[in-house]
Amino acid sequence: MSIESLLIEQARLSDLRRELKAEGCEEAAKCTRRALSSINGDAIPNLLMGLSCIEAAYSDYKDAMEECDEFGDSVSFEDVWDEFDSCQHCHNVRKLKRQRMQTGTRLGGVRAAITRVGRRLAKEQTA
Ligand SMILES: [Zn+2]
Repeated sequence: MSIESLLIEQARLSDLRRELKAEGCEEAAKCTRRALSSINGDAIPNLLMGLSCIEAAYSDYKDAMEECDEFGDSVSFEDVWDEFDSCQHCHNVRKLKRQRMQTGTRLGGVRAAITRVGRRLAKEQTA
């Protein structure tokens, strides 16, 4: 890949990552569980009031971890999340986060490639 196309790819990926982050924040703010609990708190146990699905699932996950510790078992957040009855918005938050991480990995690869080109150019200059 030419240095120019690497630079274009770097700009594209960092813009994409920023867009995914903004989209994720928007989705997170729309969580229907959080919205519901602020209107009708009685429907949800006090402990979980005002929490998004992800936060509520994380609370379940911590409980499960403590239980598992006693039995020497292990549980991942993914296991808990798969079972969790989340709203569509929080589902999207997790999906967007995965996409953002993948984009970050690709961005890291492009930056590494740019660094390699930079080292080569530096060597050529001193030669
Ligand atoms: Zn939610």
